[in-house]
Amino acid sequence: MGMDGLDERVFSTVRKVCAHDGDAWWLYLAECRACGQSWMVAQEGWIFDNHFLKRLDPIEVHKIVQEQLWPSDFLTYERVLSVGRRLSQPCGFFELLTPSLVYAVEELQKKRRTITVGEVAYLTGISPEGAAYLLSLPFPAPMPEDWDQWCDEVERLGLKAKLGDDGLRPRMKMPKRRRSFWDRVCGR
Ligand SMILES: [Zn+2]
Repeated sequence: MGMDGLDERVFSTVRKVCAHDGDAWWLYLAECRACGQSWMVAQEGWIFDNHFLKRLDPIEVHKIVQEQLWPSDFLTYERVLSVGRRLSQPCGFFELLTPSLVYAVEELQKKRRTITVGEVAYLTGISPEGAAYLLSLPFPAPMPEDWDQWCDEVERLGLKAKLGDDGLRPRMKMPKRRRSFWDRVCGR
C-alpha cells in the first residue's frame, strides 16, 4: 500500500462501521458508500503493511452487528498472516530486533504457545534462525518508550541476533504488491 495512493483511493468510499470489540484489534467491519458492499477488513501493519478485505453478505453483517459474531478468517493474528502469505508478500527486514517483528512474534506466541520456529518463519517471511531468535526473546515486549532499555536487557541476557547487527533502527525493503487482489476491490 502507500506511495501511489491506492489505499486512499480504495478507502475513499469505504468507511469503518465498527471495530471488533475483543482482542482482534486489527479487525473491523466496513461498508462502501458507493455500492453498499460490506467488507471485513484486517489492517496489518507489522509484517505485510496491508489491508486484507473479505466481502461479506448481509447475514454475516447482521451477525457481526447484532451478536458480535465474526467470520473466522481474520479472527487471530496468525490467521491474518496466513492470509497475507497467500495474497501478498511480507516486508523484507534487514534486522531482527525491530518493533514490527518483535511485536508480531509476541502476538503469535501469546495466542499459541506451541507455535513452532518453522511456522513463525513462514508467517513472517524471515529465516528459521531469525524466528528462533525472536521466539527466545524475553517477552512481554516493551512499550515503544521502553524499547532501548529492553534491548539493553536482551543484550545483557546474551541474546544475539543472527542477522543484521548494524544498530536498532529498522530499515525496510518494501515488497512488490500483487495488483490483482486490489483490482478486485470495489471493481477497480
Ligand atoms: Zn464499492
